[in-house]
Amino acid sequence: MTDLPETPKSHGRLTMRPSLQPRDLMEERPVVRGAFEARIVTLFPEAFPGTLGLSLTGKALDAGLWRLETIALRSFGEGRHRNVDDTPAGGGAGMVLRPDVVHNALCTATAGAPDDRDRWPVVYLSPRGRPFDQATARRWADGAGITLLCGRFEGVDQRVLDHWRAEEVSLGDFVLTGGEIAAQAMLDATVRLLPGVLGNQSSTEDESFSQGLLEHPQYTRPQIWQGREIPAVLTGGNHGEIAKWRRAEAERLTAERRPDLWQMLSAQMRR
Ligand code: SAH
Repeated sequence: MTDLPETPKSHGRLTMRPSLQPRDLMEERPVVRGAFEARIVTLFPEAFPGTLGLSLTGKALDAGLWRLETIALRSFGEGRHRNVDDTPAGGGAGMVLRPDVVHNALCTATAGAPDDRDRWPVVYLSPRGRPFDQATARRWADGAGITLLCGRFEGVDQRVLDHWRAEEVSLGDFVLTGGEIAAQAMLDATVRLLPGVLGNQSSTEDESFSQGLLEHPQYTRPQIWQGREIPAVLTGGNHGEIAKWRRAEAERLTAERRPDLWQMLSAQMRR
């Protein structure tokens, strides 16, 4: 393994900024000033960038609009076998990630980052966490960066989570084998909100959840497919009517599929 603690793997393309540093140093650690930075502590750095390296998030990564570094938990392991886990206190199945090992990895994963957790959250991906949502993505995207801790096995020793005041966030009410997929999903939702990542900025504004509603149905050519037509209002060219139709459809879908969201919205509208 070449993943040394001092050299987190960077997935961004080499992007230079004016600097007096020697050239080779700049190439080692390319930085676009002010770019959002994600640092991931994981036993499986090879899982990254994964899908984040594709399409719009991947292009943005290449362009230096955001940065991704993995910190290999294994390289902080103890002894010849680089042990990172041990059996649960009190007994039971599985293994628990050790607090000392995770702590050292988190120190590297927060080095030089702002202490202010509003600007740089330290997050443990966990099924016990607060459910991730669009508002969380928005909040994270407004910060300078984020450190994400991916658990494995039975999870992480509680003391290191308490010590770091880690924000626990869940991808949903199910149990994954590890935090890596959750980290990728949450980062995808966050990164696409960064300035310049999506070609068309306005497209994040009327998407599902941005206004608390699910999005209206979408259509494209051909005009007739398998005997099904695009709703006439969408091809009629009357933008006022189109907006009205979309709003009504969004409300219908939200009321039908997400009574929980719909109730919250109706209460807000009554206020
Ligand atoms: N024993 C734990 C589950 C451990 S799953 C429990 O019952 O709560 C192993 C790791 O996968 C966790 O440490 C966490 O990092 C990750 N994980 C599992 N489900 C997740 C979810 N819904 N959201 C975010 N991370 C999750």
